[in-house]
Amino acid sequence: MSPDQPPSCIFCKIASGELESDIVYSDDQCVAFRDLNPQAPVHVLLVPRKHIENLNGLTPDDRGLVGALVSAAPMVAAQLGLAVDGYRVVANVGRFGGQSVDHLHLHILGGRPMRWPPG
Ligand code: 5GP
Ligand code: ZN
Repeated sequence: MSPDQPPSCIFCKIASGELESDIVYSDDQCVAFRDLNPQAPVHVLLVPRKHIENLNGLTPDDRGLVGALVSAAPMVAAQLGLAVDGYRVVANVGRFGGQSVDHLHLHILGGRPMRWPPG
């Protein structure tokens, strides 16, 4: 466990394999797994292996990691068959953003048309 990793963080535990999940993508910096409570026919969470609370916790040192995370999103989406019809990528930040797990994650949602504005 890295010194920056809170012992109770479920997404750190999923990324390290300590907690079971349905992993659909994995590389040296990121892991993607199916959401436990899907809000669309396809709902995957893409997380960095490094514990960062949310977008607000990024520093200039994380630029490479951000590049890896964001560029993995279309790869995961294509792998799950979402590329042609499209999909939504969401990062909830903090209380008003609706964030419930304090480990940076991108929601990748697809398989149905998305509405706008979000709730
Ligand atoms: P947030 O609300 O923080 O943007 O998103 C957290 C997401 O994590 C929610 O969609 C929730 O369903 C999902 N989630 C919470 N706990 C677990 C878990 O233990 N395993 C998986 N696969 N998803 C989880
Ligand atoms: Zn974490």
